[in-house]
Amino acid sequence: MSHSETHILKFGGSSLKNASLINQSANIVAGHMQKAHPIVVVSAIGGVTDTLIELTNLDQKTEHKSCRIINDLELRHRRIFDEVASVSHPNRGDLQDLFGRLRTTFDDKSLKSEHYQAWKDQILSIGERASALIFSAALSEQQIESTAHESSHFVKTDSTFGKARVQRDATRKLIRKFINQSQAVPVITGFIGSNEKQQITTLGRSGSDYSAGLIADALDADHLEIWTDVDGVLTADPRWVPDAESIEQLSFGDISELSAHGARVIHPKTIQPIQNKKTTVLVKNSYNPEHPGTLITSDFDTNGSLKTIAITGPFVRLQIDQKYAYDLFEKLNKWSADNPNTKPIEFRQQSEFEAVRFSLKQSFFEDIKEQLSAWAAKQNTLFNLDDNLYKVKKFSNQFNKGEQLSGRVISLLAKNNIQPLHTERNYDERFISFLLPEDEARRAAHLINNAISKTKPVIDLFIAGTGAVGKTLLNQLNKLKTTDIEFRLIGTCNSRNTLWNTDGINLDTTLNWDEAEQTNWDTLLDKLTKNQHRDLIFVDATGSEEVARLYPKLFANTIHVVTPSKLANTFEQSFFDKLQSLIQKHHSSFNYETTVGAGLPVISTIEELQSTGNKITEISGVVSGTMTYLFNQLEQDVPFSKAIADARKKGYAEPDPRDDLSGEDVARKFLTLARTLGIKIEREELQVESLIPKELKDVDGKTFLGKLSDYDSEWKQRIRSAQERNETLRYTGKLKDGNITIGIESVPQDSPLGQLKGTDNLIQIYSEFYNQTPLVIQGPGAGKEVTAAGVLSDILKTVEQLT
Ligand code: ADP
Ligand code: ASP
Ligand code: MG
Repeated sequence: MSHSETHILKFGGSSLKNASLINQSANIVAGHMQKAHPIVVVSAIGGVTDTLIELTNLDQKTEHKSCRIINDLELRHRRIFDEVASVSHPNRGDLQDLFGRLRTTFDDKSLKSEHYQAWKDQILSIGERASALIFSAALSEQQIESTAHESSHFVKTDSTFGKARVQRDATRKLIRKFINQSQAVPVITGFIGSNEKQQITTLGRSGSDYSAGLIADALDADHLEIWTDVDGVLTADPRWVPDAESIEQLSFGDISELSAHGARVIHPKTIQPIQNKKTTVLVKNSYNPEHPGTLITSDFDTNGSLKTIAITGPFVRLQIDQKYAYDLFEKLNKWSADNPNTKPIEFRQQSEFEAVRFSLKQSFFEDIKEQLSAWAAKQNTLFNLDDNLYKVKKFSNQFNKGEQLSGRVISLLAKNNIQPLHTERNYDERFISFLLPEDEARRAAHLINNAISKTKPVIDLFIAGTGAVGKTLLNQLNKLKTTDIEFRLIGTCNSRNTLWNTDGINLDTTLNWDEAEQTNWDTLLDKLTKNQHRDLIFVDATGSEEVARLYPKLFANTIHVVTPSKLANTFEQSFFDKLQSLIQKHHSSFNYETTVGAGLPVISTIEELQSTGNKITEISGVVSGTMTYLFNQLEQDVPFSKAIADARKKGYAEPDPRDDLSGEDVARKFLTLARTLGIKIEREELQVESLIPKELKDVDGKTFLGKLSDYDSEWKQRIRSAQERNETLRYTGKLKDGNITIGIESVPQDSPLGQLKGTDNLIQIYSEFYNQTPLVIQGPGAGKEVTAAGVLSDILKTVEQLT
């Protein structure tokens, strides 16, 4: 064989889990043979190292389990062997011998007691040695000549069992000697080496990647491929952030830094041996081999594209009175010195007067717990403990280029009410790190990942209410084309049923209510607040008081609300104040533009005028489309009772028209306007003229509609007398000097109010700048299409406020 290129192909345990994955891996090797000389490095079969560790942890009480564990392991390997290779292959006998050796070693009580770590490494080495035998036999099955090699023959290390340090020069020479490239395809065990006494050592968990790097260096490989179970290096650990995305390309420096800080997709030392070489490294997914994976090269200029999150932990945080801090610091150092694999301490003191804080690896803390308690008891002091803490670290090349980015990440967390216990940002490092309890860490990782991902951020939506507005909104959402964000409808409900789908409900098909559960607002709230991974907007299209009363809990959980319902803003003033303070405190947002004038930009206009320091002095006009319609009909001689019946038929009026005629709807709109301006006012303080005849206030709906015609002539009279003065009637409201008056007003026929048609609204805003002629907002103030469109634009506005 004389190929110009050398390719190292490393298969992780997850790529060797069963016969079909091993066969696929063997095919990959075959594929490389076309153009290169492949050299294979294998991990133990997935899960095997964990089982071997379990074996070494058995004590006197549990030792009887060892036989079963070893037998099961042997059986698992033999089964896989028989599926991928022929029973006559010589490696089958070697595999059997290997398990014989495992039993002998396990029973070697004197080695175990004299040098437990050496004994342990011998046991752990079985995993890689077994998988090399199997893989090599699988290649033979494909007519590829191959030899299995135990790397303990050429990877030389010191005697730090469990995490041995490699002697690079000796190792390089020996690899060159043993792995003769003109031979059959070598299949080499990862993870293991040997010390000067030829005792087997291991390189630390995930060490096979490092072995592959060492071999790539010694053989001057052109290419190193690492086959694992994810689409390359991702923007975050997928077990924490399922949305994490694959990164196309990275530099050697980037990946070394990422893995050193806990992005454990490859061993932190993998690149070290080849860092001055031109070897290309490719991380690929055995479960999705078509995916291009991540290409890592020495000189790639990441130029800002290194954007990743690593999560490490768990940690515990100890706080102690500073009197005792120095002594504790010394003790911790001493205890950790006995334990070379734990670098435990961060020493933090916020100010002279505060308790001193230490954070340590939880596993280390478990080891020293008793000593620590004994120490504290002796000092007659107590320490405060938080456990299950994780560090979320965000990496970016841009950190070197200024502070903006860290500010953005910090405020992103603040906006979502995540308060890190500790934030770390070193001057010249490329990351910022946050210490958080587990749940918060998960949420923070999601939020940051969303914010940094190259594709659009995802915003979750829940839509309550599937009446006219809710349904129209769903349609509009489905048609919405956004380029920079993606909405995911995680649920929708009406008063009876609730549909959930955390992956997003498909809006192309009609909703399948067969899969719904019964609506229960408490459980619903629970579900919304727990497992909240992204920004969530709750749309209340219900008009239900019970739902409006849920807002405080939503805001307290930083769930944003968009609603066309007037209720929440028009309960007692104290409720309104409570909402505002929760919104402030928890960085939630509340958009309710459609509560006044449907799709017209009334609320946003007054907010904008106010925020630019333009004091609003008066708001007046018609804010009820139903009333505009009613008086238009009266102008045209339509009897009062018929006009109301028609308004009901056309869907302009509420089913019980008294809800409109009472003026309640207009009152709530003006109350909302006033409170939005910061005026404190209760509903009872409004003067509202009702169009409902006193005698008909309390009768049932049917009697009410039946009796209405009794008032036709009175109304005919009222409109006529106005018309005789070239005027007409309108139902208007006025907010001025903190007072609200609502009722019938006679206005000139040729005035803007007099000219109103259809279901139009007309709102006039007087302010310090607009004190002669008001700023006028006019247009359709009702209808499900305009209202739903207004709600949608509030949703988009919320997103703008978030990102
Ligand atoms: P193998 O068996 O192939 O050696 P490992 O389990 O050692 O696989 O490493 C792959 C795992 O690393 C992934 O399944 C993933 O859970 C984890 N991981 C952590 N951080 C990252 C990251 N940033 N990108 C990709 N994978 C990551
Ligand atoms: N088998 C070892 C482990 O599970 C080494 C490796 O997989 O790289 O850690
Ligand atoms: Mg690994």
